[in-house]
Amino acid sequence: MPPRTGILLLVSGPSGSGKTTLCRRLADDREAHYSISCTTRAARPGEVDGRDYFFLSREEFDKKIDGGDFLEYATVHGNSYGTLKSEVLQFIQKGMDVVMDIDVQGAAQVRSCEDPEICRALIDLFVMPPTDEELVARLTGRNTDSEEVIALRLKNAIGEMSHWREYQYRLISSTREEDYARFRSLLVAERLRVSRDTANGLPKK
Ligand code: 5GP
Repeated sequence: MPPRTGILLLVSGPSGSGKTTLCRRLADDREAHYSISCTTRAARPGEVDGRDYFFLSREEFDKKIDGGDFLEYATVHGNSYGTLKSEVLQFIQKGMDVVMDIDVQGAAQVRSCEDPEICRALIDLFVMPPTDEELVARLTGRNTDSEEVIALRLKNAIGEMSHWREYQYRLISSTREEDYARFRSLLVAERLRVSRDTANGLPKK
């Protein structure tokens, strides 16, 4: 059997959907590598450089754009965010699955990427809260952000929500445990997909 290419699981959803927690937990359980993004936004209290994000200055971020280091990058809530090729390619080539927390613009860029390895590896999931009321409650309940930031995130969340149909999979959030069980099941099922390991449906010798 040829070596398996890892799965690249893109996860999007509005702030407060719980997508980051799901992605992190999958990585903590050693089911996948969590792609650490670069961002120009300031670290929140408790966030660690190199663990939560690579926190870069505008100049450092632009240098990486010029160097062709990003698989995708986008402006989200007024800051730049980008996925490093080095956080994805070397892992999927080794057969490791990679999970990415990414906004809808970034997901669209990865989907339109012409690299056959990425195309073959890709699956995408949109995580959404069960109701608009729940979305507002989750966004306003996070006390690490200022009122201004919350208002911007709320506005953007409504825009993000309109993109769920662009994704192959959708998870309507319920309890933490239920969400995680379903999230993990998606990865487990995708690992069984025949077309991942074969060119024509029959395993190669
Ligand atoms: P936060 O600032 O709350 O950590 O993230 C804000 C938004 O940026 C989230 O929707 C998150 O999915 C998105 N995001 C995080 N990393 C990346 C990335 O590398 N690329 C893109 N396009 N979006 C990202």
